[in-house]
Amino acid sequence: MSSLALPSQSVGDLTITAISDGYLHASFDFLANIYPADAARMQQNAGITDHTSVHINCYLVRGNGRTVLIDAGAGGFKQWGGRLRANLLLAGVIPSAIDAILLTHAHPDHVGGLIDASGETAFPKAELFAHHREVAFWQDDGNLSRAPERARGNFLVARQAFDGYRDRLRTFDTGEVLPGMMAVPLPGHTAGHTGYRLESGGQNLLVWGDIVHFPEIQIPRPEVSIAFDQDAQLAATTRTGLLDLASSDRLLIAGMHLSESGFAYVARRTDGGYRMASAGRAPA
Ligand SMILES: [Zn+2]
Repeated sequence: MSSLALPSQSVGDLTITAISDGYLHASFDFLANIYPADAARMQQNAGITDHTSVHINCYLVRGNGRTVLIDAGAGGFKQWGGRLRANLLLAGVIPSAIDAILLTHAHPDHVGGLIDASGETAFPKAELFAHHREVAFWQDDGNLSRAPERARGNFLVARQAFDGYRDRLRTFDTGEVLPGMMAVPLPGHTAGHTGYRLESGGQNLLVWGDIVHFPEIQIPRPEVSIAFDQDAQLAATTRTGLLDLASSDRLLIAGMHLSESGFAYVARRTDGGYRMASAGRAPA
């Protein structure tokens, strides 16, 4: 299988490839503002057979002499994902070829793959970039003590990742993180949840992180939030605003839980909501 078989998009001099890490499962009980039966019906209507599966994407960005990975998948944490390394190889990339990793945030399905099964860093030459508020949040013992039991393990995974890369950890606030890669604050999901706008040759693409977990539910109904959102209200406000922007500006979108296709446009429906549109062609 060649890398041509993996979903890819060109943005000027950059090639962005969706690298699947596999799946996690999230019960519809975690969703707010929707009945589980309605969530199931929406998945069914979208042709999704495994209703509660959430696909995990990472993105490989090549160009301008760099090989950059955005997020690192779950690495098998709770038996989630774990396919990043094998799928990177399909794209012709070995772990030591990655020279930078940009994090959207530090939940375990995004940083679990930074550390391998033996406790070593999985990407031995990569600098790790994260928003300074994201790093500070997970390092704070007060936040750990206030976290619900379900979320305690998330702190341990995030801390292990940041500790493993401590000599190569680069934090940022706003602006350009690497040439042509701009940080876009997307508040609500976590303290430092960040998207990246990739720009080259007058073209651009937005990697929107965890704006949605169930795209066929939350794009049509952006008020539906998930228990993983630290601030559900703010996350919903951010999601709605971004869907509005993405549809009006016809932004090409990449998202960590967007789908196996990896890329999409957002179109406004005639009833005022939104829908996902194929990345093959910008919606009219
Ligand atoms: Zn996630």
